[in-house]
Amino acid sequence: MAIKRGDIEVYLSENVFMGLILSSVEVYKKECFGLLLGYKTQQKYIVEHAIPYQSARRGHKWIELRSDKWKIIQEVLKNFPKLDMIGDFHSHTMYRDVRADVTLSEEDIIHMYPDELQLVIAVNENRRSMSWATNPDQTISGTISGYHFKLAAYYFPAEDNNNEKKNSDLLHTAKILCPFVFE
Ligand SMILES: [Zn+2]
Repeated sequence: MAIKRGDIEVYLSENVFMGLILSSVEVYKKECFGLLLGYKTQQKYIVEHAIPYQSARRGHKWIELRSDKWKIIQEVLKNFPKLDMIGDFHSHTMYRDVRADVTLSEEDIIHMYPDELQLVIAVNENRRSMSWATNPDQTISGTISGYHFKLAAYYFPAEDNNNEKKNSDLLHTAKILCPFVFE
């Protein structure tokens, strides 16, 4: 599957970054899964909240949220018109000796909608400490407390996606900006 480098930037605030890190270590080595709330401009996704789904059932390579729970969440969010559901996040974890990476699985791609952001956090155990850095592939990575994290963001540009047809050739990466970790 071809992945294009997109022009869109994803801005993660301090509380979003903390939410992503804590959600993924809390359930490690299972995967976490949650909702991204915020707003989108032409060039940026501004993520204001990363909220883990507490009722989602988790396995190593799967996560399931019941549709009735999902409906309640959508109903409640209608009361907060300034915040949009801009996408979701989930983690990938180390399995036996296989280190996790941020590559989306077939299943991840099937569940993506045009214009929605998909944020992936790959978590691996790593004793050696590495400072946080922005990588050439638009991801950010670094270590905290013996874990190595790599965060990647993906989207399907809406304008290329008439008829809701999903073409994995159009998958784009977005550039992650998180000033908090580089301060
Ligand atoms: Zn995944």
